[in-house]
Amino acid sequence: MARYTGPVCRLCRRERTKLFLKGERCFSLKCPVSEAVTDRHSRAYPPGEHGRDRMRQGSEYLNQLREKQKARRIYGLLEKQFRNLYEEANREAGITGENLLRMLEMRLDNVVFRAGWGASRAQARQFVRHGHVRVNGKRVTIPSYRVRKGDVVTLKEASRQMFMVRRNMDTLDRQRPPWLEAADQGFAVSVLNPPLREHIDEPVQEQLIVELYSK
Ligand code: SF4
Repeated sequence: MARYTGPVCRLCRRERTKLFLKGERCFSLKCPVSEAVTDRHSRAYPPGEHGRDRMRQGSEYLNQLREKQKARRIYGLLEKQFRNLYEEANREAGITGENLLRMLEMRLDNVVFRAGWGASRAQARQFVRHGHVRVNGKRVTIPSYRVRKGDVVTLKEASRQMFMVRRNMDTLDRQRPPWLEAADQGFAVSVLNPPLREHIDEPVQEQLIVELYSK
């Protein structure tokens, strides 16, 4: 499945917020939208020649569009995949926005990221694509695979010694969400329940996305 392969920091700059798309760099002073960077070096404005001119307050439509783009970029989906997921969320019972966020959270690449094995969702996606991840003991290489309650996601035995995995687990110190339970020294996670809205800490106003797509 296709994915965005362009520069990612410009995506954060466009949304004027940190989307944490690059792993370790996002926590360093190299982040162009880091609050710790002095004003002179900060690039916390939209990219492009007229980026600074685009700092104005947007219309209602623009706010909805930006919220959708932000969510899409956080989880690394292209427009068509995101739209399809929205349609599915809309067909399900319950609140559409929360359904959408829950489906995004339950993607296998996101679970690998939440488990702390990948420094970013992009890296987690690569681990899945390269066959390092098992679901209930079976190799799954589809990043969009949706885990279910009771599933056990594990890192392949031989992959546990990978430098990147060890470094991520040692240095990131990521808090696992309450809907995932770690086992096997952190190399396995069980899905206890689908996540509730309060368990999803991404800065997304899902209602604006629903309003955009319901026009
Ligand atoms: Fe780049 Fe990460 Fe900073 Fe975003 S948060 S601008 S991806 S370094």
